[in-house]
Amino acid sequence: MMQKNFWVTEVGNGYGQTIEVKEKLCEKQSKFQKIEVYETCRLGRLLLLDGIIQLTYADEFAYQEMMANLPYYAHGNPERILVIGGGDGGVLRELSRHKEPKVLDLCDIDEEVIKTAKKFLPEMACGFDDPRVNIHIADGSEFIREKEGYYDLVIVDSTDPGGPGAPLFGAQFYADLKKALRPGGVVGTQAESPWLLPEVVKNLINAARSNFKYVDYAAISVPTYPTGMIGCCVATDGRAVDKPASAVDPQLASKLRYYNKEVHEAAFAKPQFVREMLGF
Ligand code: SAM
Repeated sequence: MMQKNFWVTEVGNGYGQTIEVKEKLCEKQSKFQKIEVYETCRLGRLLLLDGIIQLTYADEFAYQEMMANLPYYAHGNPERILVIGGGDGGVLRELSRHKEPKVLDLCDIDEEVIKTAKKFLPEMACGFDDPRVNIHIADGSEFIREKEGYYDLVIVDSTDPGGPGAPLFGAQFYADLKKALRPGGVVGTQAESPWLLPEVVKNLINAARSNFKYVDYAAISVPTYPTGMIGCCVATDGRAVDKPASAVDPQLASKLRYYNKEVHEAAFAKPQFVREMLGF
């Protein structure tokens, strides 16, 4: 007998986001979090960690392209790149479209997320196939502490501050990120939604400001995240980040579905309430 469709709901912060699904493909408890994958009715595959929506196939490209390319082009030509978190492989997939980088390191705390992506989310996990990729299984806040003057770009694609991602949101982490960068280095961090978690966004921007000269906040439209948007904090000592430092290669541009020069610049435009909230 055919299984009936059902609804999977992320609840939290007085809010619910619900998606109709056909089938549960995987559920397991790792050392760090509960991992679930579903086949949805109209959004393709869905990944949840501890009940929080991480991605759907329908709109993940918006998040991955922006998380990879806003900080990539804020730098212009990064050679050594680290992704902290990002165990689904999506940000790596976008970075691996660039020919110039020589090092693509990824440090995720949870090997089970990577294994799950390889088995159930092949459209994301293809990012791991690039021969430049080195995977490290560790807490990103500890991994980065050991690095000094090495990376041109660090992208933090983390879960929310509630679970194992908590240490990736504090001022000490931003100080360690800064120490890990080469001159002109850039960081781009998952920076939540000002509608849903205003205090988290404020604290994160302040943590970045207490360490970097240029700190900015970009909005990304992702309909399946609660409130339909998420932010990316881009920070550096090098230069203002709201304009790309280099042009998008036309071959790459033809593959992108969200990011372009105009979207880069527009993403940093802030509604008045966000300016007031974050002091821009
Ligand atoms: N796009 C997602 C979002 O914000 O909804 C994030 C996706 S990615 C799957 C998040 C990853 O961060 C997970 O694989 C998780 O294991 C990893 N993570 C959480 N805390 C971490 C930490 N302290 N160090 C390294 N990775 C961490």
